[in-house]
Amino acid sequence: MTIDTSLPAPGQASAAGAASAAHEPVLPGEHFERLRAELSGDLVLPGEDGWDSARAAWQLLVDQHPAAVVVAADVHDVATTVACARRLGLHVAPQSTGHAAGALGPLTDTILLRTARLDGIAIDAEARTARVGAGVTAAALAAAVAEHGCAAVSGMAPSVGVVGSTLGGGLGWLARSHGLGVNSILSIDAVDAQGHVIRVDAEHHADLFWAVRGGIAPVIVTAIELQLHEIGELHAGALMWPLERAADVAHAWREWIEELPEAVTSLARVLRYPPIPEIPDFLRARSFVAVEAAIQADAATAASLLQPLRDLRPELDSVRPMSPAELSTVHGDPAHPAPGFGEAVVLTDITAASMDALIDVALEPSSQSLLSIELRHLGGRTAPGGTAGGVVSAIDGAGLVFAVGLVPFPGALAAVKDAATAVADRMQPFASSAVVKNFAERPTAAATLYGIDAERLRRVACAWDPEGVIRVGHPLDGPLAAPVKRDTPPVLD
Ligand SMILES: Cc1cc2nc3c(=O)[nH]c(=O)nc-3n(C[C@H](O)[C@H](O)[C@H](O)COP(=O)(O)OP(=O)(O)OC[C@H]3O[C@@H](n4cnc5c(N)ncnc54)[C@H](O)[C@@H]3O)c2cc1C
Repeated sequence: MTIDTSLPAPGQASAAGAASAAHEPVLPGEHFERLRAELSGDLVLPGEDGWDSARAAWQLLVDQHPAAVVVAADVHDVATTVACARRLGLHVAPQSTGHAAGALGPLTDTILLRTARLDGIAIDAEARTARVGAGVTAAALAAAVAEHGCAAVSGMAPSVGVVGSTLGGGLGWLARSHGLGVNSILSIDAVDAQGHVIRVDAEHHADLFWAVRGGIAPVIVTAIELQLHEIGELHAGALMWPLERAADVAHAWREWIEELPEAVTSLARVLRYPPIPEIPDFLRARSFVAVEAAIQADAATAASLLQPLRDLRPELDSVRPMSPAELSTVHGDPAHPAPGFGEAVVLTDITAASMDALIDVALEPSSQSLLSIELRHLGGRTAPGGTAGGVVSAIDGAGLVFAVGLVPFPGALAAVKDAATAVADRMQPFASSAVVKNFAERPTAAATLYGIDAERLRRVACAWDPEGVIRVGHPLDGPLAAPVKRDTPPVLD
């Protein structure tokens, strides 16, 4: 399908002047009504019924105010929306769940394109591949592929979108054995900034295939094809101790991970549960040090691997045989939209000194406003040097610190921000230069995210979307990210 692209691009024409001189001027409102008529899905404009739910991001700290929201029902809706945006001199921002809404930046002059209804999953059990629509969540994919005895490499949270999370890296429970999720991408179906439907893989548009995997997607992905993996026996869960045991447990975990096979992915964390009814009685308002682990091994091997930690007599031990589909329950991420603020730091090494620093800051009174301070064990297949894939295919570091707090009311933000920043600052002496895109919650410069690849990425993005029609998280700084300029402001009626 090809859409007429002989129309002004963002920044090239006033909205009212977008109509050809040979025709009567078409007001933006009329363009939107034509768009509404052409869509199988929905167009929601400011003030209309459903506006607040249509524009709401999963990340409740972000209050999104786009020019319009399109809830796409199919690929045609996506292409039609791009064409309409070009006519109006607007951008289009694809969004599945809005977990990463904080990295998107302001949505002025932007149509927010919600993809949740593009939720098809087609599995080829023989080839062990899945074609996953842009609106599919990690939990839905995990459940679907488990029926075929497979697993997808994804992040730890069930509610994130597969496309957004995988394009951004995808660091989860299979990380050390199977690497980042982004390396499982076989191909991408997309609508480009001109409205063309394209397929992107190693043979087709290799430059774009490189750029979208871990970098910038200057296209709207409508589906993604993923390599699935057969996972053998799996044991996973958490061991938890009262917070007073933080130092000895954390150091025991540090020594434990030194000899671990790649079949084990684990993390250590300090957890402070708030006094809210959603938290089970036995955890509510209590603080713990915990080790969470996913071990791909039979029961005897898993038990023997865990013994040094169990010797520390955890108060709670939930490690049990699990199917890969259940893995997303281990980390306890919220299932429903939540307001959260987090900071991340990649560590070059997990040493006694870096662990001491982390424990010190985690036990400070200021850290009481944080829900979780965790240290994920990296290495294994997450380390550089494996398969050369897209612009980001590995993480150069031994561990990822992530400090996050819930912000139940606006006044709580300052304390959470200060506490998360304090953790990040304290870990700076041990930090590598790596920044993991999925854990960068605010717009981050391309040079910081991609290093020397930022310039090549910019060239690819400019080639595919010279006018910057498509707006994605962590927008490239410079011309592509420049706001749309019009001679006459649009009248959005
Ligand atoms: C509670 C929580 C837990 C998390 N846990 C993990 C984890 O364990 N591991 C991990 O790796 N990450 C994790 N993340 C980070 C998460 O993977 C990123 O926020 C990711 O970007 C979310 O993708 P999404 O599609 O759900 O979000 P969205 O905000 O909908 O999309 C994020 C970005 O992805 C891109 N994108 C989405 N859809 C499209 C599309 N159709 N076409 C082109 N680009 C698109 C855009 O840049 C968009 O701005 C977590 C986040 C939260 C809030």
